[in-house]
Amino acid sequence: MTWLDALADKAIDCVPPTREEALAVLGSPDDDLMDVVAAAFRVRRQFFGRRVKLNYLVNIKSGLCPEDCFYCSQRVGSGADVLKYSWLKTDEVLASAEAGVAGGARRVCLVASGRGPTDKDVDRVASTISAFKSRNPEVEVCACLGLLSDGQASRLAAAGTTAYNHNLNTSGGHYADICTTHEYADRVSTVESAKSAGLSPCSGLIAGMGETDEDLVDVAFALRALSPDSVPVNFLIPFDGTPLAGQWTLTPQRCLRILAMVRFVCPSAEVRLAGGREIHLRTLQPLALHVVNSIFLGDYLTSEGQPGAADLAMIADAGFTVEGAGESVAGGSESGGPESGGSAGAVPARAASVVHVRRRGAGTDIPANA
Ligand code: SF4
Repeated sequence: MTWLDALADKAIDCVPPTREEALAVLGSPDDDLMDVVAAAFRVRRQFFGRRVKLNYLVNIKSGLCPEDCFYCSQRVGSGADVLKYSWLKTDEVLASAEAGVAGGARRVCLVASGRGPTDKDVDRVASTISAFKSRNPEVEVCACLGLLSDGQASRLAAAGTTAYNHNLNTSGGHYADICTTHEYADRVSTVESAKSAGLSPCSGLIAGMGETDEDLVDVAFALRALSPDSVPVNFLIPFDGTPLAGQWTLTPQRCLRILAMVRFVCPSAEVRLAGGREIHLRTLQPLALHVVNSIFLGDYLTSEGQPGAADLAMIADAGFTVEGAGESVAGGSESGGPESGGSAGAVPARAASVVHVRRRGAGTDIPANA
């Protein structure tokens, strides 16, 4: 039995790896990459079979945030040319969210820029969520509105909200390097407030922000300590006009190792491949489906993803099924399989690594990508 087999066995029994084992996954050579993915797949298959859950993002308030999160295109002073708009009306939110549902999403994620909502904001979002749930009772709704004050999580829960997302993003030790306007502890307490109110906790990370392997392991274990039901793993989208512009440090192989490490640390959580998958994993995206059990369909908050139809085709081609869609998955079979050759591990090929600012869907008159 290899050390990776042993790691998978432990994860299947919900026993966490040691820090050294988690670091070893991140430090494993490219020669072992397929063994890492195969071990993580055993864990993924144990808890989620070959199902892929689709989630759909709706940016219900975009840009002009007073906070300074260095990775964010919506931060104060951002020079990124992203869409900027205040709260969308309920019918606008419903139109975008239901486009995602029609594309196969089982969860819609309603996200607003800002430090946190006022009570009036919470009332507005709660009303929108009630309207959505009355029309789509089988679809989960996750709210992501920033730091929550007393009582706000309960009011969201009462409106039919399923989950609340608030990412830890990075380790406590690295947090001051990516944000100065709020603290890591603020984020932890918001996740705990959401959980206490009965909302399903969703909290994850962003890789590629100058963190060390130790930081990644720290944040993975910090997330495990919060017992989140879902863990989105983002890869930095280095928008021009933000402090982290031009930071292209990830390779597809490193992204796969990060996902696998998170799978071993949080084996039964819904590990979601989130922002940045197209530009960092590139042709290795389908391999990631062997590690994660959840992705976002279509576009992100302020950048465009690949067409929703390409997401569905990728899932079908890789032999997985969309959760809630039975065995059949829409989409053709013309896309190529993963190409893992030449994993030299140095600076990634950049030809396909371009950030496309979102210009369609929520806040525009152009149909959503779903
Ligand atoms: S991540 Fe959220 S709080 Fe931070 S700048 Fe962006 S919108 Fe504001």
